[in-house]
Amino acid sequence: MDWLSQFSLAGRRALVTGSSRGIGLGIATALAGAGAELILNARDTVALGAAAARLAEGGARARGVAFDVTNAESVNEAVDYIEAEIGPIDILVNNAGMQHRAPLEDFPEEMFERVMATNVTSVFLVGQAVARRMIPRGRGKIINIASVMTGVARKSIAPYAASKAAVGNLTRAMATEWARHGINANAIAPGYFKTELNEALVANPEFNAWIETRTPQGRWGDVAELGGAAIFLASDAASFVNGHILYVDGALMATV
Ligand code: NDP
Repeated sequence: MDWLSQFSLAGRRALVTGSSRGIGLGIATALAGAGAELILNARDTVALGAAAARLAEGGARARGVAFDVTNAESVNEAVDYIEAEIGPIDILVNNAGMQHRAPLEDFPEEMFERVMATNVTSVFLVGQAVARRMIPRGRGKIINIASVMTGVARKSIAPYAASKAAVGNLTRAMATEWARHGINANAIAPGYFKTELNEALVANPEFNAWIETRTPQGRWGDVAELGGAAIFLASDAASFVNGHILYVDGALMATV
């Protein structure tokens, strides 16, 4: 057995949603480094083009396909286009997500709906559109980006916590229904990473101090530290890993 070659993604094509920056771009960079061809996604075409160009400069085969993951018609059109014009999607990373903070008693309904659409409905829509192509091929890897909020809650982000709990069980449901078709559906649950989504927290000294004491590793994560988990779950090395939620959080969820 050539153990290391099991982790190679050479000859595989990956679609990573929400990958113009942050965690999505970090995961896309790692998958490209393991040999995959990358299709990046976001709504802002300028940022998307710049991210794809940066990956390509590093030697990756990468291009951007802009679409809104919350819009069923756009999702289906984009997946049709990718499969017909670029090639089959072997790996899907459902990463696009958003945050909105407000006390639960004042949380605007419209923002609740937007958080749920961006974080959960998107996983259903893109997952379904891609799985419909993977099922007849009898193979595919789906990685959903969950959160420590998949298992616990925190004040001011109730809809986010509800959405990420839903992503956890949607992952298990995908594995339950699609494992027999050769699909592995797993989730990565990141701890706290410095990205635009967490801008307000990064700028807050009190929150930084809290992260350092609350996280046993005593610091924020770096997006590159999610790369190994993503490569593993996207690779043949994880052939019997299915319906799993892999926490990458510096032991935060292991600790009260
Ligand atoms: P960022 O805000 O830095 O990046 C979000 C990305 O998603 C951007 O590329 C954005 O581009 C894209 N996006 C947002 N909405 C849509 C949409 N409707 N359609 C298509 N693309 C969209 O976030 P992070 O990198 O921090 O987060 C990425 C994922 O990781 C999210 O699911 C988040 O919940 C999760 N996560 C993050 C943690 C952290 O500490 N940062 C911790 C745990 C989980 P554009 O706006 O141009 O569309």
